[in-house]
Amino acid sequence: MEKKCTEIWGKCLKIIKDNMANDLAYDTWFKPCSALELKGSMLTISVPSPYFYEHLEANYIDLISFALRAVLGKNAELQYKVHIIHKLSSVTYPTNLGIHVKNPPMPFPNENINQLNPFIIPGLQKMEINPQLNPDKTFNNFVESDCNRLARSAGLAIAENPGKSAFNPMFVFGGSGLGKTHLVQAIGLEIKRKFPEKIVLYITASLFQNQYVDAQIYKNKFTDFLNFYQMIDVLIIDDIQEFAGREGTQNAFFQIFNHLHQSGKQLILTSDRSPVDLLGLAERLLTRFKWGLTAELQAPDFETRKAILKKKMYNDGIEISDEIIEYIASKVTTNIRELEGVFTTLNANSLYSTTAKSRKIVTIEMAMNIIDSLVNSSKREISIEKIKRTVCDYFGLSLDAIYSKVRKREIVQARQIAMYFARNMTKHSLTMIGAEIGGKDHATVLHACKTVEDLYATDKTFKQHIIEIEKRINNSI
Ligand code: ADP
Ligand code: MG
Repeated sequence: MEKKCTEIWGKCLKIIKDNMANDLAYDTWFKPCSALELKGSMLTISVPSPYFYEHLEANYIDLISFALRAVLGKNAELQYKVHIIHKLSSVTYPTNLGIHVKNPPMPFPNENINQLNPFIIPGLQKMEINPQLNPDKTFNNFVESDCNRLARSAGLAIAENPGKSAFNPMFVFGGSGLGKTHLVQAIGLEIKRKFPEKIVLYITASLFQNQYVDAQIYKNKFTDFLNFYQMIDVLIIDDIQEFAGREGTQNAFFQIFNHLHQSGKQLILTSDRSPVDLLGLAERLLTRFKWGLTAELQAPDFETRKAILKKKMYNDGIEISDEIIEYIASKVTTNIRELEGVFTTLNANSLYSTTAKSRKIVTIEMAMNIIDSLVNSSKREISIEKIKRTVCDYFGLSLDAIYSKVRKREIVQARQIAMYFARNMTKHSLTMIGAEIGGKDHATVLHACKTVEDLYATDKTFKQHIIEIEKRINNSI
């Protein structure tokens, strides 16, 4: 029967090998090491030279550490003995040098080796860590719908049983503003609520990356960095796509991932794209992301958008009519963050109702204006054609008038106003605008804009016209 220590070390080696990218490195550095003794949870291994010991300590300490912990438990300890095989003449003398050998038979080249400080993995100490969770991002405030049902219920299942469900890791992906951060924070909060003793940490990938870079500067700091993360029960990393192309960070995360996963700790990751599209991330990471559950958050449908607005409305104690809610939900379609942006601005602009003084009310005009300025103006295509039409309509002119050579004041002014709006509301060049509005050159357009701006600043009636025309351009669909 295999000796216990050999068996244990064999298991460790298997984990170590699994986690090394390079077989050659494994053969070089681990094959020559063998188990000597196991006392309690202290394993002694032999290494062929002090250099080996140093190299292992410098490069693989964390990997060895998590393998040992996985096999021997969290109190695992390790010590090395340098086992030198001296070839003298034809005879081979095994020489034990190490901590427990009082009188090494051979002088040892590196005196320090006798004071080798075996690395002893410190027992888990309970730490107080601020989980970095926003108390508002609860499941309660997270509206459930077809667009997020799978991710949401997986999240709830994880919160029941962190690390022990099949959803480990949980990988949530979806476009910007669709609720990834909210959902993973809700999971974190729920776990904290159910299991206050669990160490939960939410961190963005870019902050993790900064910490890693920081820790790189000093070797000890790096070990602290790894140790810190290896003690966490529920690690939530947001926007993992930020790791793309950052090999060092990915390696560190890989070690942490393996350690936590093997110790039955929960990992929750988010990304703005699916694992398949995560270019620049190591294959071994991508493979691991797929071990658990991958869930997509989709753009909310109309009903969901309405439900989210209503929830916000009740939470904030503001009254908005169904008509307005539907109007907003129909205009802001792709992004919940924008939906909230409109809501927050509306809230800030809402008026206290004259009839019920404590109630805030919102009018449809307010909603329209806010949506125009916040959301649609940047997205909706406003064409020069539309501007020309609106301006001509406003002044009761025919569209042809714009091209007329007549230097009538109202025609010239209509043209100038159309140029002004075309310049401010479209991305077309001055030359293009000039050509489209009366066949003028770019200098004429510039002059027109200047004239309109001057009049706007000095003439109140003119200013009213401009405001009204702008509204009409925005509202005409
Ligand atoms: P992401 O991380 O995907 O970019 P966030 O989680 O930051 O998106 O969500 C954007 C905003 O929308 C947040 O304020 C969030 O609270 C809100 N939100 C997202 N999804 C929902 C939902 N299902 N119910 C309620 N609010 C939501
Ligand atoms: Mg986010």
